[in-house]
Formats: sequence, C-alpha cells, structure tokens
Amino acid sequence: MKIFFRLIALVKPYFWWMALAALIGFATTGSGIGLLMTSAYIIAKAALQPPTGSLQFGIIGVQLFSLGRGVFRYAERLISHNITFRILAKLRLWFYDAIEPLAPARLMHFKSGDLLQRVVDDIQSLENIYTRVLGPPLTALLVAALMWFLLGVYSLQAALLILFFHTLAGIAVPLLTKQLSRGVAIGIMNYKAEQQVLALDLFQGMGELQLYGQLPAHLAAMQNAETGKLQLQRKNAIIEGMHESLTGLLMNGALIAILWVLIPSLATGTGISLTIITLAVMASFEPFLPLPSTLKHLEADQHAGERLFEILDAKPEIVAPTTPLLFPADHAIKLDRLSFTYPGSATKALDRLTFTVLPGEHIAIVGPSGAGKSTITSLFMRFWNSSEGSISIGGNNINLYDPEELRRNIALVSQKTYLFAETIRENLTLAAPDATDNDLKKALTAAGLNHFSSKLDEWCGQHGMKLSGGERQRIAIARVLLQSAPIMILDEATANLDGVTEKEITKTLNTLSEGKTLITITHRLKAMEQYDRILVLEKGRIVEQGVHAELMAGGNLYRRMWELQHTVEIIG
Ligand code: ADP
Repeated sequence: MKIFFRLIALVKPYFWWMALAALIGFATTGSGIGLLMTSAYIIAKAALQPPTGSLQFGIIGVQLFSLGRGVFRYAERLISHNITFRILAKLRLWFYDAIEPLAPARLMHFKSGDLLQRVVDDIQSLENIYTRVLGPPLTALLVAALMWFLLGVYSLQAALLILFFHTLAGIAVPLLTKQLSRGVAIGIMNYKAEQQVLALDLFQGMGELQLYGQLPAHLAAMQNAETGKLQLQRKNAIIEGMHESLTGLLMNGALIAILWVLIPSLATGTGISLTIITLAVMASFEPFLPLPSTLKHLEADQHAGERLFEILDAKPEIVAPTTPLLFPADHAIKLDRLSFTYPGSATKALDRLTFTVLPGEHIAIVGPSGAGKSTITSLFMRFWNSSEGSISIGGNNINLYDPEELRRNIALVSQKTYLFAETIRENLTLAAPDATDNDLKKALTAAGLNHFSSKLDEWCGQHGMKLSGGERQRIAIARVLLQSAPIMILDEATANLDGVTEKEITKTLNTLSEGKTLITITHRLKAMEQYDRILVLEKGRIVEQGVHAELMAGGNLYRRMWELQHTVEIIG
C-alpha cells in the first residue's frame, strides 16, 4: 500500500483534472441511465394511449439525455486522455531525471533489457493509473449513490436491495477476481521483462550464440517465456469472462429481487414507475464491470511502481556540491593515497596511489590487465567515488567541482567508443551542442575523417555499425577536439585497432595532445619513449616509475612486460 500512496503522490498535481473527469464520467453513465428511464417512461405510458401532450416530458428527457450522453462521453475521453498523457510525460521526465545520476555505478547490476522494460512498459502501465485504477471506482460509487437515492425515494426496501447487490458487484466480485488472478498481472509483466532481456541478448549476441551453438537453446528460452505469458493471458481471459458473467448474474438477481418486492405495488397502479426502475437497475450495473480489472491494474501498477522505486531509491554514487567551485586554470593533478574497492569486492582495486601530473605533462600508466588502470579513469570522471584518499585538480578535491563541468574539462577517449544510432552530426554535437557545421568539419578533418565532412547527416547505423573500428575511434577524437578540454585521458584508446590504423590514430592523438595534460592508460607498451613519465601499476599499486630508459634499465615488471610483448611481436 505504501507504493500505492507514493504513486498517488506522483499524480497529485492532476487531482482537480481527475475529479472533473470522474464527475463527467458519472454524468455520462447517469445520462445513459436517464435515457433508459425516460425511454421506459414513454413506452410504458404510450401503451396506455394517453393524449400525446402528456408524453412531452419524456420526449424532452430522451433528447436531453441522449445528447448529454454523447457530449459527456466525448468530454470525459478528452479529459482522461489529457490526464493520461500529462501523467506519462511527468513520469518519463521524473524517471530520466532520477536515473541519470545513478549511471553507471548504481545501474551496473541491472540488465539492459530489464532497464528498458522499466523505462518503457512499467511507466506505460502507470500512465493508466487514472483511467484504469482511480477513475472507475469513483464513477461506480457516484452512479450507485444516485441509484440508492432514486430508489430510496420510491421504496426503502428496494434501495436496501440494490445496495446489497451493488456491494456484491462492487466489492465481493472484484475481490474474488483478484484472489483468482493473484500474481497473473505480475507474472505477465515478469515474462515481458524476461522477453526483453532475451530479445536484446539475441540481437546483440547473435554472433556468439551462433558460434557456440547456443542459438537453439536461446530460442527455446524465448519460446518458453512466450508460452508462459500466453498461459497467463489465457487464465486472465477466463477470469475476466467469469467476472463479467457474475456481474450479469448479480444484475439479474437484483432485478428479480426488486421486482419481487415492488410487483405487489402494481395493484395501486404504479406500472410505469416499475418499468422505469427495471431499466435503471439494469443500467446501474454497467460501471461495475471494469472494477475487477481495476484491482488487477492496481496490482500491476504497484508492481511497476515497486520496480521503478527500486531504481530511484538507490542513492546516487556521487552528489554534486551545492556551491561548486569553478574549474581552475591551473589544472595540476594530484592523487593522494587514493584507494578504491568496488562494492562486494574483497580486494582493493587501487591501493594508496600517490602521484602528480603537472599541466602539460604527458604520462603513461601501464600495467597488466586487472591492475586498476581503468578504475583510475572512472574515479577521475567521477563515475565512482573514492573511499580513501583524494584526487585534486588545481589544489582542490575534484568532489568540489560540478561533475558535469569536470567531465567537460577532461576529454576521454576510451577503448570502446559508443556511437548513438543517429547521424554523424548528432554524434559529434554531443560534445559541443553549439558547434557550427564549420567546427564539425574542422574537427573531422583534424581527426582524419575529412571524407565524412560531406556526410554530416548520414546515419551511423545501430551502435555505429556502418563505421569501421578506426572510424569510430576517429569520431571519438573529433568529439575530443570539439570539447577542447585541457586534460586528456586515453584509456586503451587504440587497443581494438589493427596495427596500421593504430599507428595512424596514435599519430593524430599525439598532435592533438600537444600543449595539453595527457594521461595515457595502456597495457601495450608502444612508443613509450615519448612520455615524460611512466607509472607501472600492479594490483592497484605503483610498483615502478620513471622514463622508458630508466624502467628498462631497472629490469623489473616494466622490462618483463616490454620484452614479452616485443618478443611475441617479433615471433608473430
Ligand atoms: P585494468 O584497467 O588495469 O585492466 P580495472 O581497473 O578494470 O583494471 O580493474 C581493476 C580490478 O577491479 C580488477 O580486479 C577488476 O576485476 C575489478 N573491477 C573492475 N570493474 C569492476 C566493477 N564494476 N565491479 C567490481 N569489480 C570491478
């Protein structure tokens, strides 16, 4: 129930719109009942062949109610759709705003298909919170109250009877349906989430699945999820059919009981009223039909809310300072006894790391795989927070800067450049939204992609599939150029490239980094002579540092790595 109240709090700003929609919903059903009642009046009265003038009252009623029903229905649809779309827009913005600070540290435990399901389907399910969950009971209550009042004026006994049958239709049947369909809505949602995860894995990992002969097993898992979902949907349809029949049964029961009570009064000449009452009773059950699905949607919405709040309640790894410092012109970097342990890990990824990088200095951080090199990048970019020690730039702890400003001032080229399924232009303006076409073309040319200058509006393909690995890295370089940050971090920037492309890109990067502070992170010892200093990292600690010649002379890990890589290359 706590989740339900949190969801209600989210839609609270639309309270007055919802109240208006419920009132108009009531007016729509009320007009339907009025139409039946006045029609019954005319038919019953006409059977007695009265003067035509005495039917005038009924005729006006039929006209008014039939017109009113159409107009009210239109207005009700208009307002409830308006509410739905407002809620949807609010929920999406609310969710994106809340999820952004959680990336990547808090989101890494979620599968991307599962996250997609939450962003798309769970929010979609919540958008109907008014039309499916809050609106129908309100309308049913108002219509029922109207009926109790009308019948109460006529006969207290009949009013009590309709109250009894309405209670059964409005409370007992929905509760019974809820009991029978317990877990069905959640089960369908879970199957859908599983299908998203499996479908994404299928598209993204098709190559691996085929390579290792796992495609049939994966398809079988998808089939199982589909079968499971279909079974639940079938169960759902049967239960829905049952509740509709039960509501119909109750309506007929109410009719028989009320007629039973009122028929003796026919002797006093109340035949016309009885006809009217009969039709009104039948119509009054209409708003009870959606109630069982209200409870089902309530269950689904609570589950969707739970899944969304699970993400949103996660505390962001980093919090921007309320009054951030301006990024300094002096950007000397200092790491002071910096340690870091990933959550759930027993060993430190970084262990009391201390070093400085002066403005304009070019350093390389090398070491075997798993030594902690990329963790340094993540801490620099504030994807994670350091648990002990500090990183400072310009004498201030980086926590004192606005994380976005910090990231604008540190240009990162990593091993895997993510390209959005957009045009070249959009992939570039990500780094500089205000860049002109001329700026983009200049950056492309400097990054060695001058042939792309005329293709700014060409689509890059899903994940940049239409570009080669080298071209993707060059787009990353063009982004860095547009960003014009004073500090550059190259984190295994050329690791995925073939020898020739690697050489060309390294050349471009060298030109680009002139006059900037450069930190190159790599496990491959190539052209190491160019660095002012090389730090050798092993198990999160600096085990050696110096220039290439000194490290080679030292004969320790660096030399062993260098010899191993160069021997392999010679043999290869
Ligand atoms: P390198 O870049 O030198 O290959 P990393 O910085 O990626 O090394 O990793 C250092 C250590 O931290 C490794 O033992 C690795 O398994 C661990 N590690 C890296 N990323 C995570 C993570 N997101 N969660 C838990 N452990 C991690």
